[in-house]
Amino acid sequence: MNTIVPPLITKNGQRVLEKRYLKRVNDRYETIDSMFRRVAKRVASAESLYSSGPETQIMEQDFFRAMAALEFLPNSPTLLNSDLDGQIASCFVLPVGDSIDEIFEAVKNTARVHQSCGGTGFSFSRIRPEGDVVHDQPGIAPGPVPFIQAFSLASNLVKQGGVRQGCNIGILNVDHPDILKFIAMKDDPEYLTNFCISVAITDKFLDALFTGGDYDLINPRTGQIQGYLNAQFVFDKITNQSWKTGDPGLIFIDRINRDQPTPILGKIEAVTSCAEQVLLPFECCHLGSINLAKMLKNSTDGTLVIDYPKIARTARLGIRFLDDCIDINNYPLPQIEEATKRTRKIGLSVMGYADMLVMLEIPYDSDLALETANKIMRLIDDEAHIASQELAQKRGVFPAYSGSKYDRPNGQRLRNASCTMIAPTGSLSLIAGCNNGIEPFFSMVFVRNILDGEHLLEVNPYFETYARENGFFSEDLLYRLVQGENLRDVPGIPEAAKRIFVTTNQVKPEWHVRTQGVFQKNIDGAIAKMINVPASTTPQEIGEIFLMAYREGVKGVTAYRDTSRKIQSLCNDENG
Ligand code: UDP
Repeated sequence: MNTIVPPLITKNGQRVLEKRYLKRVNDRYETIDSMFRRVAKRVASAESLYSSGPETQIMEQDFFRAMAALEFLPNSPTLLNSDLDGQIASCFVLPVGDSIDEIFEAVKNTARVHQSCGGTGFSFSRIRPEGDVVHDQPGIAPGPVPFIQAFSLASNLVKQGGVRQGCNIGILNVDHPDILKFIAMKDDPEYLTNFCISVAITDKFLDALFTGGDYDLINPRTGQIQGYLNAQFVFDKITNQSWKTGDPGLIFIDRINRDQPTPILGKIEAVTSCAEQVLLPFECCHLGSINLAKMLKNSTDGTLVIDYPKIARTARLGIRFLDDCIDINNYPLPQIEEATKRTRKIGLSVMGYADMLVMLEIPYDSDLALETANKIMRLIDDEAHIASQELAQKRGVFPAYSGSKYDRPNGQRLRNASCTMIAPTGSLSLIAGCNNGIEPFFSMVFVRNILDGEHLLEVNPYFETYARENGFFSEDLLYRLVQGENLRDVPGIPEAAKRIFVTTNQVKPEWHVRTQGVFQKNIDGAIAKMINVPASTTPQEIGEIFLMAYREGVKGVTAYRDTSRKIQSLCNDENG
């Protein structure tokens, strides 16, 4: 291969790659170019399983080009571990049983997954409640909540591939007798910082909530009713706690199970650690993201427009890349390989949505943004399914196709039971130099700490260009913004700029929710998104936001009230 791709990496992207991703070969770091070649080669090697023709070389070239142009990037483990036999998937769901053996087997599995660079989602709902019988002795079971510490510790001790800390999500069904203890579990947000928690909300709970009634608590060991709680009381506990610390979030577990592609294989109990994917026990998912910042072109009149054919091409390439990943991965456990290869779920996502909007001069909180999001994500989802169908023609449908929701007259014959979702892209977006996932920009100006305690002001490049071109760029403006002043309150700023450069905290919560709703309608999986709400939001308002999110059809929702945490959750920073 001899394609020369001009360097596109920003200084920050370069820094992140050098710090964590580039391999040392003979005392020298590989180049970024060789990293992408290494990844392209390993992933395209899967092509030879299906063809002895030139596909391997062609796809290797195409994969390399898309990555080097920062148009498509696979999840971090693929970039990090694409050596001969590295583990390359990002997120896993591990089952946790009720016996001591099963619980500690799951702890061991957690260590294996985190060592291999994966993050984990767990449901702790099968563990018998506090005070339940153990070996016929009543009153001694500790319940699920204390056990979660063992999982947190295991993943803390095993730093992911030596490069970063793993994320976890712990889930408990709302009808578990220990639900109140679970909801309050992260009252001190600095306790178990590598764990987010989420309550699995059932339809029965929602029915009781909407009618002001009670709902039953079920002992998972016996399947018997073990008391009841008032749904509004529990909901208020959840929203108060979310108001206070950002945890717990909600997942709508019955909706998730109604939508899931392979009910015949069992129930979905959990989502992945940043809540972006819905997986069966032991499944893992390979993720990859299309950088929407690179999906624009100049129209004939010189204005920027969306390059739909390029999006379609990149989506198809992404599906092929991710399907190849399944075949070449070196899975951390045989059960994971078996479960993953049964459904072949993959996660094609987007990042740089905010970049695309500002380049098109579309405010994030506008109907036009929602229309644009709908059009783009529908195209990606359609192309992803077409690509998966084409792969199925050559490579076969996913092995659990029979009896799946697609197995009906005129159903899609797919290679992958699930194709699309929205990933957090915490590190990928830094490498690509774009904003993460489908979030709005956090700020137009950042203070970056550099060596010797020096601080540097970093300005959003789109904002800087726009402000200079429109004559309102000044040191004073940067100073005001960095002090936390709202662009909308600074005198002399053009109205259009105030709308286009809207930041996370200025976007009203309902626009965050509506944005999540629009993306949700056009994907198979779930969404990693934070519903950011102002510091002044009340717990009741958080409750209304949760219910609005439910009505929008989302699979899960997490809110974060500005200033409610001294430290942001592990998965939202630079993964430090
Ligand atoms: N993840 C993790 N540790 C981290 C960041 C991510 O374990 O520090 C896992 C986690 O399971 C998450 C998944 O990687 O759900 C995808 O996260 P993200 O898109 O932010 O990862 P990236 O590929 O950008 O590194």
